[in-house]
Amino acid sequence: MAGKLVIGNWKMNGRRVASETLVAAMLADPRINRPNVGMAPPAPYLALLAGWLEGSHVAVCAQDASRFAKDGAFTGDVSAAMLADIGCQYVLVGHSERRQYHGESNEVLRAKLANVLEAGLVPVLCVGETLTEREEGRHRDVIRHQLSVLEGVDPRRCVVAYEPVWAIGTGKVASLEQIAQMHADIKSWCLQIQKTDVTIRTLYGGSVKADNAEAILSIDDVDGALVGGASLEVESFAMICMAA
Ligand code: PGA
Repeated sequence: MAGKLVIGNWKMNGRRVASETLVAAMLADPRINRPNVGMAPPAPYLALLAGWLEGSHVAVCAQDASRFAKDGAFTGDVSAAMLADIGCQYVLVGHSERRQYHGESNEVLRAKLANVLEAGLVPVLCVGETLTEREEGRHRDVIRHQLSVLEGVDPRRCVVAYEPVWAIGTGKVASLEQIAQMHADIKSWCLQIQKTDVTIRTLYGGSVKADNAEAILSIDDVDGALVGGASLEVESFAMICMAA
């Protein structure tokens, strides 16, 4: 089981001094300071985090990248090339909060994916259905449609994070059966979409905590976790990393 990928998504949380203290405590913990662990801070702290993580095993991860590839008149945007420049390795693409609050469509996400790959970084494409979509039995179609942006993308160069929207920050976790089924489906849909025989890595996200991480990360098809709330607290994040 060792070596599954765990990324902590800080979302819009933290301040410089508190985050530096938090990261120092996390790096002192060998359960966290190991390969295949990443941290995704808000954009202003990315370059600082890269410095704090220097010499550690932990990777820098961005929460988003611009849909525009080249430098230019795109006020407020941060390009994938800039993220690579400051030492980033992973970039979240299409997190449900970006889809919800910024209206990110498949078309936008296709451009973001291409830019992240072009910059030599690993995109973590986030997919997930809402509660209504699941209750109406449309969740499989929704996920299949969200995955269609991976057409033509090499599965060795990207990761998918399955995060049911109804399980994010709600304390409601999908059942182990729901998680196992969807991860198996995502892997098989990706084989078709990407026209390959290489299986894509898939992470689970949505209320992953210290007390459920082991069960979730023991599922064969789950290759890691994308952790929100619990990534802001040393012991919780350490327990999750250990379960991976
Ligand atoms: P959560 O968030 O762990 O707080 O549910 C997960 C995510 O949105 O990536």
